[in-house]
Amino acid sequence: MESKRYKTNFRNFVMGVDAKIPLINGRFVTAINFDNAATTPPFLSTLQQINNFSPWYSSIHRGTGYKSQFSSNLYEKCRNTVGNFVGADMHTHTVIFVKNTTEAINKLSYRLCKTNKKCVVLSTCMEHHSNDLPWRDKYDVDYIAVDHLGKLSLEDLEYKLKKYKDHIALVTITGISNVTGYKNPIYKIARLVHKYHAKILVDGAQLIPHAPFHMNPIDSPEHIDYLAFSAHKMYAPFGIGVLIGPESTFEEDAPEYSGGGTVDMVTHDFIRWAQPPHKEESGTPNIIGVIALSSAIHTLKMIGMENIEKYENSLTTYALQKLKKISGIQLYGNPDDCTDRVSIIPFNIADIPHEMVATILSYEAGIAVRNGCFCAQPYIQELLNINSHEIEERIKDSTAHHPGMVRISFGLYNHYDEIDMFMTMLEKIITNKA
Ligand code: PLP
Repeated sequence: MESKRYKTNFRNFVMGVDAKIPLINGRFVTAINFDNAATTPPFLSTLQQINNFSPWYSSIHRGTGYKSQFSSNLYEKCRNTVGNFVGADMHTHTVIFVKNTTEAINKLSYRLCKTNKKCVVLSTCMEHHSNDLPWRDKYDVDYIAVDHLGKLSLEDLEYKLKKYKDHIALVTITGISNVTGYKNPIYKIARLVHKYHAKILVDGAQLIPHAPFHMNPIDSPEHIDYLAFSAHKMYAPFGIGVLIGPESTFEEDAPEYSGGGTVDMVTHDFIRWAQPPHKEESGTPNIIGVIALSSAIHTLKMIGMENIEKYENSLTTYALQKLKKISGIQLYGNPDDCTDRVSIIPFNIADIPHEMVATILSYEAGIAVRNGCFCAQPYIQELLNINSHEIEERIKDSTAHHPGMVRISFGLYNHYDEIDMFMTMLEKIITNKA
């Protein structure tokens, strides 16, 4: 069945989509960006908002000048915008601004190991390194299995929740995989996690920009305890991200980084820490980043997260249907089921290394994709069916080819014609005409 083509005009919202770039033969073409899972280009309205704010900005929270007070008020207003966008309960939860998802997860791992004496973290086999490595040096980490298509096993989750019972400090799971685009049934998972009196962190780096999401009230069994995400994947600039969690988690003890902004009172012998979130935002914060993120959220809300998910899902279905028809393409995940899959497609071409495919696409057609392991090496090893022993052997052999895939990932501004051009190029690569 042909997928339905949704007509959209989201393209005009985004900066740089018509940029002309040079190919290896000197010809100029309009760049195609299929690497949105890494970073999305900024919204024009967000850049405009940065410009509008620039004459007014000043260091926040401790200044009495007009601009400082104006900036402080706006910064705190943005905190509410961000919290409300993801349905955080602003009475019980705190919204902490950080650099990115990686910093958010590291911050939470530091905080939990200070205040929570339980020793096990349940992660999954499909995590980005940023939601795996920060837990390893502080906890015993066990990984919830995935099936042969890379989908999370809820049976294994329940088995491990029963096995570790009261020793679980946290269950940490990505909302959407940055490799297969699988959307985990996060509310069902939250219900299960809470049934066993554990808490859940959702890595929202891929989920928040691509689908509607709500943390839910804390008296709901489907509430999400902690959430982390990055602005640069949601049409805002680099250098700003978010960690949300119950205020009580961050109340005790010293923060990870102390210094200006983290204290209420200091003598040579005594420190009284500020309340969260300020205690966790040491030094002068990234005010422009926060304002840009808030502006991007306004635009995402105006477009509508349901519309974004529907449109990107139709692009994904369209691309998968085309890819399935090209012989020589190896797809990962389930190419026939797009119901729980958003905007990301990994693949390989038989006998052509992934790095070569990516390079040809870039230099000969101006199409940006990503290749390699996408900071999710254990998941890629599962999908490619490579065991740790084989990896160790390949590391020893400097001439060995590194396993990996090519990944295309769509944003709300991509369109069907770009997918058609990409498919034509793939066919050329396969038939050796590129
Ligand atoms: N988690 C997932 C699922 C991701 O896709 C990424 C980035 O690609 C991250 C975490 C890390 O995000 P950042 O580099 O913004 O910290």
